[in-house]
Amino acid sequence: MKKEPFVNKEQLEKITKEYPTPFHLYDEKGIRDNVKALKEAFSWNKGYKEYFAVKATPNPYLIQILREYGCGCDCSSYTELLLSQSIGAVGEDIMFSSNDTPAEEFALADKLGAIINLDDITHIDFLEETIGRIPKTISCRYNPGGLFKISNDIMDNPGDAKYGLTTEQMFEAFRILKEKGAEEFGMHAFLASNTVTNDYYPTLAKLLFETAVKLQRETGAHIKFINLSGGIGIPYRPDQTPNDIKAIGEGVRKVYEEVLVPAGMGDVALYTELGRFMMGPYGCVVTRAIHEKHTHKEYVGVDACAANLMRPAMYGAYHHITVAGKEDAPCDHMYDITGSLCENNDKFAIDRMMPEIELGDLLVIHDTGAHGFSMGYNYNGRLRSAEILLCEDGSTQLIRRAETPEDYFATFDSFPIYETLKKNIEDAKK
Ligand SMILES: *Cc1c(COP(=O)(O)O)cnc(C)c1O
Repeated sequence: MKKEPFVNKEQLEKITKEYPTPFHLYDEKGIRDNVKALKEAFSWNKGYKEYFAVKATPNPYLIQILREYGCGCDCSSYTELLLSQSIGAVGEDIMFSSNDTPAEEFALADKLGAIINLDDITHIDFLEETIGRIPKTISCRYNPGGLFKISNDIMDNPGDAKYGLTTEQMFEAFRILKEKGAEEFGMHAFLASNTVTNDYYPTLAKLLFETAVKLQRETGAHIKFINLSGGIGIPYRPDQTPNDIKAIGEGVRKVYEEVLVPAGMGDVALYTELGRFMMGPYGCVVTRAIHEKHTHKEYVGVDACAANLMRPAMYGAYHHITVAGKEDAPCDHMYDITGSLCENNDKFAIDRMMPEIELGDLLVIHDTGAHGFSMGYNYNGRLRSAEILLCEDGSTQLIRRAETPEDYFATFDSFPIYETLKKNIEDAKK
């Protein structure tokens, strides 16, 4: 399938007059349509709630859009908790799904009334010592170990993942938590990432539901919710078929009616903690071709780099690239598209067949709306870009300014060198 950007050349030329490249651009309409479809797909479940995985796209203005549809926040750190609090997501609107958690983070999560999802059995005592009690509602993250398969396809390797409690530990943890005063229980598992199959959630749900029935029966703990977590993927490549969220919702419903309802557990609420699926396709990086280089290969240098989008450098991840205005031109040139870091893996594409690129062309790097900006870093003194929202009415709204050298040096603000750094920034502008 041909991948079309959500923005065209005319729009981009207008936007780049106001905001210099590179920047992350987000599609309000896409975000809204998708969250509506998700809610609809799970509307059969009375307590259904999506907790957006804040780490994927930690911008309060974007998450606020999801809040309009009743979404909460899935947090895993102190600053993510603060960000959620700033948009009014507190109490049971926060799912605190962290691991290797520092005490002060449990304390803040508890102070905000978040639902705490424990990653390990030893965290029961750690939490109790930290906040002085066990909350009435508590969740545990499950890791069944082994390989996670759908039919014969290996989806991922939970046995090698650092997260969660074993099956035996789940039973023991629920007993201990109940003794210590917990009244409502949740179960969580995240067994495969970026799945592009409608079978992931239903397969995961079956495993969780069957375990939940045994857990409730054997420990007497009342299971209030089951959290299917994240992992629904997006088609980064043009040849991939997008997930059908309606089919996924139906698949989960079938298993729910097969396993939970006959066990008298038809009151269990389902939660999700999707990140990539909620935002991934509705963000792109807009960058300009600033150099071409003809050596052992053909290179096009752009003004974005891995500091703006780390996935290709980190995982060799594919991100489709469209040259604005050349959507229908033949892909008869092979390029490496590079950033400026002094790292040879700073390439957004390698040996990619593309239309002929001229200096000044605007390139749209697709599907960067999740785990894009948020993975940014400052290597080589590179600065993070702005984030801009393309609103439903076609206007744009700056939702995060670009970093400045002042931001880069801000952590020296209590050191003698800071005044010199600031003076040099000013002098350089003259
Ligand atoms: C990262 C993460 C998610 C979101 O994952 P996606 O692949 O973006 O859907 C959800 N829950 C937890 C605990 C996570 O760590």
